[in-house]
Amino acid sequence: MIIAAFITGAKKGFIYLRAEYKYLLNKLENTLQEFSDKGFLGNDICGIKDFNFKIKIELGAGAYVCGAETALIESLEGKRGEPGIRKYFPTENGYLGFSTLVNNVETFAMASRIIELGSNFITKIGTKQSKGTKILSISGDVAKPGIYEIEWGTSIKEILYLSQATAPYYIQISGPSGECINNSEFHRKLCEEDLACVGSIMVFNKFRNIIQILENFITFFKIESCGACTPCRAGNQILHEKILKIKRGICTTQDLKEIKEWVTIMKYSSRCGLGQFSGNTLQMAIDKFEDYFNLIVTNCTDNCNVEFDMQNAVYNYDSLIKDTQ
Ligand code: SF4
Repeated sequence: MIIAAFITGAKKGFIYLRAEYKYLLNKLENTLQEFSDKGFLGNDICGIKDFNFKIKIELGAGAYVCGAETALIESLEGKRGEPGIRKYFPTENGYLGFSTLVNNVETFAMASRIIELGSNFITKIGTKQSKGTKILSISGDVAKPGIYEIEWGTSIKEILYLSQATAPYYIQISGPSGECINNSEFHRKLCEEDLACVGSIMVFNKFRNIIQILENFITFFKIESCGACTPCRAGNQILHEKILKIKRGICTTQDLKEIKEWVTIMKYSSRCGLGQFSGNTLQMAIDKFEDYFNLIVTNCTDNCNVEFDMQNAVYNYDSLIKDTQ
């Protein structure tokens, strides 16, 4: 951030810390103090006249959507953290209307590493379109979960071997809105040309209930939707209801068709990435784990309403009649 400030001429920087990570606050504050004491923050940094830069830590209130840069800026400005309609990029019009550079920690860290070691270090490894390395968080049914730094182009099979996965069956790439893959795809490589990955891999073994995993993802998005646009607000609710139907054993092929239609509507009409991609995994899982879904879906092609419960529907009427007799 300090190097970026030197290049752009910024005077102020912010570390936006989600409320969930408040436990890091003291550590970060101490580190910033250490930087100030060493002359890397404050005025005339490193003895360079008029190179003044300060970093402030801003705590979020716990909204996932504040990872979207426009929502993050709104939150920094003290407003409700909602993604804005993209009229400008933050570099043109960002925090309080100033040009603003928004990056995640990994990008800043990698940029400084390239400056330190030279571009050769990064261009020699990786693939044609994805140079260098990637930080990955690997979790789930593995004996060695944790943060890994891998070379771009590493295959899923190698990742599973490194983390000592047990009976892997369903792999989630790039978080709940990313891509899921089945065991016929473990040869695929993490890189721009094949499996683009933003940093997390979740491994589920063959004993896990896929519907439960998908329900967990959709419930998360239903709660985290800021509600500003209808396709995301209503769409995630509808997808959740469809999953509940699957769980109750009354889902039909028509429901699966409707899930896919809703995901497409959300993709093209939601304002930000949360709504655009929240149904991604569910849509993919239906195709990639077809056998699994076929087993649990009632093959009802005549559009019959299997959910309709006659006894329940007339319950109030029956009790009313009994009371008046
Ligand atoms: S897509 Fe969802 S999270 Fe994004 S602005 Fe619309 S309602 Fe909010």
